[in-house]
Amino acid sequence: MENLSQITTRRVSLEEEIPFTDAHCHLDLFSEPEKIFMEARKAGVGIVITAGGNSEGNIKTLDIVHGGIYGVVGISPEFMLLEAWKIEELKDILKRNKNIIGIGEIGLDAVMAEKSPLEIQEKGFIKQLEIASSMEIPVVIHSRKSLSRTFEILKESAIKNVVFHYFEGNENDAKAAEKEGWLVSIPPIESSRLKRVIKVLDIESIVAETDSPAVGRNPADVLSVIEKIAELKGISTVETGERMTKTIKEYFYV
Ligand SMILES: [Zn+2]
Repeated sequence: MENLSQITTRRVSLEEEIPFTDAHCHLDLFSEPEKIFMEARKAGVGIVITAGGNSEGNIKTLDIVHGGIYGVVGISPEFMLLEAWKIEELKDILKRNKNIIGIGEIGLDAVMAEKSPLEIQEKGFIKQLEIASSMEIPVVIHSRKSLSRTFEILKESAIKNVVFHYFEGNENDAKAAEKEGWLVSIPPIESSRLKRVIKVLDIESIVAETDSPAVGRNPADVLSVIEKIAELKGISTVETGERMTKTIKEYFYV
């Protein structure tokens, strides 16, 4: 039998061996989410934050979360026309598992305006921000071709902890987000815009994501994102990853 201090030591060393975090993915869209997570762990990714976005995805997310798998649940702009009435249910889902740690992905998506009119997207977005601020939990933002309006709504709300998943802005937008104390999440794509964003931000304002399986293949792909950020910041990959994990833990209270 191990005693408590041995177990604690073992846990600490395990965490040291698994330093990285995928700040945004969709494990509910994989047929074997647990297997995908175990593969990510082997690659050094000990924490993933998996995001719902409609009622089906939210229920699946609730089933998947445990250990290093944390989740956010929400109604995304794309589904707002169909599922705005499901927003009230989020409060219940949020209380059912301590690994459900925020509301997301929520926001505005001008590309989806035909499927879900922007006026309805805004109403649902604001309502979810109200729930998050009343529960004092963070939100994960989806903003596509809507950044200035998204900023406005967030500033008018009482919300504090905001993560911009797949940040769509330029370096000035990134600085504006940082000034508000928000986090900018970098997806696994190469672009000169994102390089400039990474360069102007403090490492404490940056996290890395795969948005898998939509963009990256799986959460293990976050390593290549962290490597690129590390290179641009002139810090080692491990240190970069560890600092981001620390940021995530503090921000999401995990
Ligand atoms: Zn996503």
